Amino acid sequence: MDFPIIRERGQNEIFCGLTSIIWLHRKIQDAFFLVVGSRTCAHLMQSAAGVMIFAEPRFGTALIEERDLAGLADANEELDRVVARLLERRPDIRMLFLVGSCPSEVIKLDLQRAAARLSQAHAPRVRVLSYTGSGLETGFTQGEDQCLISLVPELPADTGSAPSLLVVGSLADIVEDQFTRLFRAMGIEDVRFLPARKADALPAVGPGTRFLLAQPFLGGTARALEERGARRLEAPFPLGVEGTTAWLRAAAAAFGVDEPRFHEVTAPAVERARAAVERTCEPLNERRIFFFPDSQMEIPLARFLRQEAGMELVEVGTPYLHREHMAPELAQLPADTVLSEGQDVDRQLDRCREAHPDLVVCGLGLANPLEAEGMTTKWSIELVFTPVQGYDQAADLAELFARPLIRRAKLRV
Ligand code: SF4
Repeated sequence: MDFPIIRERGQNEIFCGLTSIIWLHRKIQDAFFLVVGSRTCAHLMQSAAGVMIFAEPRFGTALIEERDLAGLADANEELDRVVARLLERRPDIRMLFLVGSCPSEVIKLDLQRAAARLSQAHAPRVRVLSYTGSGLETGFTQGEDQCLISLVPELPADTGSAPSLLVVGSLADIVEDQFTRLFRAMGIEDVRFLPARKADALPAVGPGTRFLLAQPFLGGTARALEERGARRLEAPFPLGVEGTTAWLRAAAAAFGVDEPRFHEVTAPAVERARAAVERTCEPLNERRIFFFPDSQMEIPLARFLRQEAGMELVEVGTPYLHREHMAPELAQLPADTVLSEGQDVDRQLDRCREAHPDLVVCGLGLANPLEAEGMTTKWSIELVFTPVQGYDQAADLAELFARPLIRRAKLRV
């Protein structure tokens, strides 16, 4: 379908890929994320994760000081020392990610080579990998894509003859468990997840692997898996009742589950979720929503809000439009939906002010000024931190959008 797309390549307001560590470190329970960066990177991590307190945090920053930037110190030697000290103090770490940043790129620190060297030094106890979370190259959800790309070569080869299902993208454990139960009830027994919860439980992959993307920002990971012979199942994303049903159905079709069985397994959850969504959506009905580009989740969210909550789409921004992965989502949007790809933040703000929507979905940096102008906003980052996929979370997802509207109405009263 041909949508009117506004393509912009101006200044954009978005967190860098380091931010994804906040949810990734919770997912891979024996991993540590070592940002090789500056005090700015450390501050970002601290404030983004500020609400959480850990006795033993699983991310940290190896600081690049001015001496390193000036080329006066050997950054590799310092990195080796920091890693040795960390691993000695923390025997629970099984996988260590060296995460690149803008400063590590500026001094051209080769983290891939450092990871290979450190992996050798600390094998077999710890596997060391690297990826970039630099703001020069990544937006916040792209950090997860980069992390998973670095994991793909580590996945064991699947030499079995029976097909297996791989769900790709970080999901809350509770959501993973719900999906596993549904797949098993349909008769799909061999279900694996990437990333896995433990470093030594990496899923095997091969030509028998059929994978479903659980998150819409994993274009690079999908490509890397396809290069290992895995096949992507085309589906919308599992947001809302309809998205979840279509996502599950894609797996059912690939694994030969017949329609009566599929219906029998999903019907009770569908019924429950529809009733819950209906109860929650009332404040959203016929309200106008504007998405600034941020997480790449905007298009599936827009589809859900229009289809199941009756919202009107003013503009749906996305940092990057992956036409192939988004095709099943785009097919469900009205033909006159205004999409925008990339950003020129001032121009987009002008469009937003002119349209004066009921709800604006945007990053933290834009939310406060827009609220001060009398608009109602929703922080897009919350949508990544909160379990929103699947049937049992569909009403929670609607509620995330309803809450700011209810709050605004109360303030007016
Ligand atoms: Fe800032 Fe770059 Fe560090 Fe991100 S990686 S916090 S954009 S300096």
